[in-house]
Amino acid sequence: MSSPELTLVKKEELDWQDEGICRQTDPEVFYPEVGQESWDAKKICKGCPVRDKCLMYAFETEDEWAVMGGLTYRERKKFRRQRVRPTKENIDAWIDRSIKDARERRQRAYDKLA
Ligand code: SF4
Repeated sequence: MSSPELTLVKKEELDWQDEGICRQTDPEVFYPEVGQESWDAKKICKGCPVRDKCLMYAFETEDEWAVMGGLTYRERKKFRRQRVRPTKENIDAWIDRSIKDARERRQRAYDKLA
């Protein structure tokens, strides 16, 4: 049996952000330039204690630039478009796949340089 769906986090509910690991890291990492890899931000988000809240907040606010909750805006849009149920298991699987894809893209880019 799958876990219940996580609920959206309202825009005015911001207390959870104080616990985000990104508060202790370079914010630039979460705003990759167009064409720049988001791997570093995703790795940080994966270990963040408020990742699920952050992702549900991102769905609510639709920030187009930031990596939030471990996903880029495009990935979040895809997640919603494919109507994936926002359960903890589904989100974990989605983020793991997104990190794996980012790692493979980075490796391919390194291989081209070699
Ligand atoms: S999930 Fe990522 S962007 Fe969200 S609060 Fe945590 S570290 Fe910051």
